[in-house]
Amino acid sequence: MEGRYHSIESFGNVDGPGTRMVLFLQGCPLRCLYCHNADTWLMKDGKIITVDEVITRFEKNAAFYRKGGITVSGGEPLVQIDFLIELFTKMKAKGIHTCIDTSGIVFQPGNQRQAEKLETLLAVTDLLLIDIKHIDSDKCLKLTGKPNEEMLAFIRFVDNHRVPFWIRQVLVPGLSDDEQDLYLLGKFIGDLNYAQVLEVLPYHRMGANKWDMMGMEYPLEDVEEPSKELVARSKQLIFKGIADRQAERRVSKAT
Ligand code: SF4
Repeated sequence: MEGRYHSIESFGNVDGPGTRMVLFLQGCPLRCLYCHNADTWLMKDGKIITVDEVITRFEKNAAFYRKGGITVSGGEPLVQIDFLIELFTKMKAKGIHTCIDTSGIVFQPGNQRQAEKLETLLAVTDLLLIDIKHIDSDKCLKLTGKPNEEMLAFIRFVDNHRVPFWIRQVLVPGLSDDEQDLYLLGKFIGDLNYAQVLEVLPYHRMGANKWDMMGMEYPLEDVEEPSKELVARSKQLIFKGIADRQAERRVSKAT
């Protein structure tokens, strides 16, 4: 089967555990204001690769991936779910650790056919890295072009299927650093059972040049990167929300 991809990073160290091959698939329905991969948005701009070609490239460096594996990122990888299912099915059969980096935006609650495909994919997926773009739906719309209901429903779907995941949020000063929102984000996470890791990723301007190259005005021109103190404070607020929600759950279980 063929997929459309943007690029391959042979030795990634930030997209899941260990050293990993990171395949960036093409196509994304979101338009995050801070996007550092704006050149992955349009499917037509991608290059063609087959499942077997991905596996051959992986196997060339397999010795380096013993404590890692493969991560498929994007763009939004779930746009090409059939490709992912075939790729991960073949890779799992070889004992390779598989990971998806997604926002879950393609999720359609109530779509049974899609739910079945996702179940097939989750059965061959070891880990997901899930971006919560914003816990407030109106602010999510402003930040990404879409509200957050489907994305949050996707996280609950993964949690219900008992597949471990890491939660990531990009911290953008003035857009996603409101203290109450961060606390509520923690409360949402505290309701989940299979969230393993929380990563607060400081917004950076590294993708701005791609917007320029594509002839688009970079929307966050005046936004500063967050300080270490702001990142630390934001994490504390999220962890407080998680702890409070977990305490509430313990109380309601005991009564
Ligand atoms: S989900 Fe990722 S690739 Fe898509 S617009 Fe947002 S940052 Fe860019």
